[in-house]
Amino acid sequence: MTAISGGADSDVTLDMLERIGHPLSEVHYAFYDSGLEFEATKRHLDFLEEKYGVSIERRKAKVPVPLGVKRFGVPFLSKKVSDYLYRLRLHGFQWEIKPFEKLRLKYPRCESALRWWCNEWGENSRMNIRRRRWLREFMSENPPDFPISDRCCEGAKKATAKRAEKEIRPDLAVTGVRKAEGGARASAYRSCFDGDSGRPDRFRPIFWLKDSDRDAYGRAFGVAHSDCYSVYGLTRTGCACCPFGRNFEAELEAAKKYEPKLYAAAGECLEKDGGGKTKFAIAETFTFL
Ligand code: SF4
Repeated sequence: MTAISGGADSDVTLDMLERIGHPLSEVHYAFYDSGLEFEATKRHLDFLEEKYGVSIERRKAKVPVPLGVKRFGVPFLSKKVSDYLYRLRLHGFQWEIKPFEKLRLKYPRCESALRWWCNEWGENSRMNIRRRRWLREFMSENPPDFPISDRCCEGAKKATAKRAEKEIRPDLAVTGVRKAEGGARASAYRSCFDGDSGRPDRFRPIFWLKDSDRDAYGRAFGVAHSDCYSVYGLTRTGCACCPFGRNFEAELEAAKKYEPKLYAAAGECLEKDGGGKTKFAIAETFTFL
């Protein structure tokens, strides 16, 4: 089984699998539709099916993004930041700036989020809120009046992949994750293969490819990418305009220009807070500070 996202890494993975061949078994290709996908990505799936003569199953997210955002909260800045803000809010936090020991007494069972808020993970730790300059001061002066959470990913991506795996029951689960991507997804793995007992083995055939390797492969074998790259000028695909994305402003611009319906949908579920401010604007401020 191979997860196909319609992005550049998954294009190379698919090309590699089909080029090398898999004579002893079929590959079940599956695309997980988060509910906030570029039309260009969906068109690209059709193109891939035709080019390689394969079939890619489209699977709806277990909890699509618009529903996940309503249910849990809006993604904000990064998964880590959103997770801590979610936990603080859950404990009725009043966004006060006070010493850790005092806050720990007032909000028990919320220790790690409070450590983050109070910069208590060690002087130079990247785990501290200090890493986002002025975020704490901003939050304290402008307590968020909308829920924030990283759980949208849980329902739209992780739970969807888990459910697919349970139903399809593959011998081997293949993904196009690369170490050079960075971020939580890539750093969760140490090598290109895991043989877990009780679960399908995991294979990441392009794990060690740098960006330049992937591009060289693409040039050598004529791998075509979706319009998200070649026409919209984006450097990644995935959930459109998510504030977790490094270049979500560029995604917003592209959606506005090329896919106005998607732009409206992204604004509807990720941007408006009903109070005149936009979460995107707030996130943008802290991305650049
Ligand atoms: S990437 Fe963003 S929009 Fe997509 S599931 Fe995760 S939090 Fe939600």
